Formats: sequence, structure tokens, C-alpha cells
Amino acid sequence: MRVSASRFRSIFFAVISLTAMAAHADWYHREAAIMGTRIAVELWHEDASEAERAIEAVLGEMRRVDALMSHYKPESQLSQINARAALAPVAVDSELASLIERAGKLSALTGGAFDITYASVGYLYDYRAHQRPTDEQIEAGLGAVNWRHVVVDPKDSTVRFTRSGVRIDLGGIAKGYAVDRAIAILESHGVRHASVTAGGDSRIIGDRFGRPWIIGIRHPDDADQVIARIPMIDAAISTSGDYERYFDEDGERFHHIIDPHTGKSASKLRSVTIIGADATTTDGLSTSVFVMGPERGIELIERLGDVDAVVVKSNGKVLYSSGLAPP
Ligand code: AMP
Ligand code: MG
Repeated sequence: MRVSASRFRSIFFAVISLTAMAAHADWYHREAAIMGTRIAVELWHEDASEAERAIEAVLGEMRRVDALMSHYKPESQLSQINARAALAPVAVDSELASLIERAGKLSALTGGAFDITYASVGYLYDYRAHQRPTDEQIEAGLGAVNWRHVVVDPKDSTVRFTRSGVRIDLGGIAKGYAVDRAIAILESHGVRHASVTAGGDSRIIGDRFGRPWIIGIRHPDDADQVIARIPMIDAAISTSGDYERYFDEDGERFHHIIDPHTGKSASKLRSVTIIGADATTTDGLSTSVFVMGPERGIELIERLGDVDAVVVKSNGKVLYSSGLAPP
């Protein structure tokens, strides 16, 4: 049989283009520093330039959420609330009003363990400079710490404070929210296998090489040691730990998760990991359970039913919610 030159050429081109496609269908990674933390995006895509476009869109969205919600940026809408909401209602994007409302619901659910007004005393800590407030300063600020001081009007999309001295900070939930936004963007780009991480908050789309993604939970005292590996497909995971931002003084650890009832660092646990469907939920709950402690915290997780928890106690003991416990 004789293969014509043109037929040969078309077979040749078919092979070439298949090879080219195979070379482009690949995992694409990117890391960036946004929201004061490490952002990592990893995704599978058939097309390199489409993959880059999707990653750029994710990073752009992270920067947008940061510009809206950062308490470091004086021009952010969140900073505008802190500057003026005790005087009159402050108009904000409905997106920000909704997240503040959602934070309030989480406060009610957790008996005030999660409370964005923690910042009314939280701002007195500077972990890098090893500075903390005196008991008198905490006492003076605690009156302003109460989530009921924050009133959201969803109709007008405004936020007001019922008294002076109140400050809010979304650090316990905004990274998870940004991860959820990123996942929505990747899905709209047709991505079917991906992982997005912002600090301690991650969410996964699909599987990896036909198997679950494996997310390691680190040892609180050793970043290289893994205490548990969690297999995940289409799920979110958040870890809150006392090793993220802290300083030690006289054998005591002063870290960034504040018990709103005392104005001091919550000390019942070393780390809390929550696994659930979306990262806004897991982020908010990991901070909440960290403050609530092992008994009340696990009880809440069991009651909610659609989330799981891995908790490291002060003595190093690891507790699992019933959905994760070995049979
Ligand atoms: P995460 O690492 O998600 O647990 O978030 C910790 C961050 O949440 C802190 O850096 C603060 O910005 C914020 N935060 C601290 N204590 C609380 C609290 N009791 N309720 C809500 N947010 C908090
Ligand atoms: Mg959190």
C-alpha cells in the first residue's frame, strides 16, 4: 500500500498537534503574597495561556477583596467603617455588608467566641514588636467588644456601631471568603481540578490524578512535621494555630486569636482544623473552635453535622470529630 505524501503529511501534523496539546495540558502553579499571607494556586488546564489567565483572575480577585476588607489600608471600606460607623451609618458594598452580617450570625452560633469586634482590644497587640496591652488597657477596651454593637442594614447596605470605641477586623474569615471567590472564578473559567490556598485556608476543586488531594496538618511546634493527612475532593479546609503570629514572654504565649470575653489570647488549644464544603465556613469555624476550646468546640462541630474537626490540645493530644474518627 502506498501512502500518499499529503496523507503522510496530515498524519504527521496530527502527531505534532497531539504532542503540542499534551505538552500544554499540565498542572500550573503560582504563588504570591497578598492579604499579608501566602497565596498559592495550582490547577490543571489543557491550555497554558488559559491557565495563566485563570490564575491572573484569581490573584486580581484576591487583591480586590484585600483592598475592600483590609484593616491595614486606611482607604479600604472596612477602615472607613472603623473611622466613622460610631457617628453615622457607613454605606459599603453589599458584599462587605453581607460578610459582616455573616460574621454576626457566627457570633450568635458560637456564643460570642467568634467576634469581629475583638479588634477593639486586638489592635493593642503588636506581635512583631512583642507588645501587648496592660490589664487596665484591656479592661478599658472590653466594653466595646461585643458583636451586638455592629448593626448591618442589608437593605441600605450600611454598617453602624452602637457606641464609640468599636473596631472590627475580618482577619478570622476574610481569607476563607477570598478563597471561595477564587474557586468561583476558576469554575467560571471551566477549571475542574484545582487548589487555592490563602495562609491557613484552602479549597479544592475535583481530584488530582484520579485520587483525592492530600492536605497535611502541621505539628504546632514543628512546621516540617505532619500530624494528620486529610484526603480531600471538592472541599475546603482551614487551620487556626497559636504559631501563626505570636511572641513568648515569661513562658506565656501571646498570639493573634483573642478570646472576646477576656481580651487575651485563647489558650485552650494549640491548633484547630475544620473541613467543610466552603472556606468562608471553615475559616470562621476554625477561629471559633480555637476560642471555644475542645469540649464546646467539638460539640458545636458535631451539632452542625456537615463539618469535621481535628483539634490539637495544649498537651499535644489530637482529637477528631466523629466524621473523621477511625471506625
Ligand atoms: P485564623 O487564622 O483564621 O484563625 O484568623 C485569626 C485572625 O482572626 C486574627 O489574626 C484576627 O485577625 C482575627 N481574630 C482573632 N480573634 C478573633 C475572634 N475571637 N473572632 C474573630 N476574629 C478573630
Ligand atoms: Mg479563621
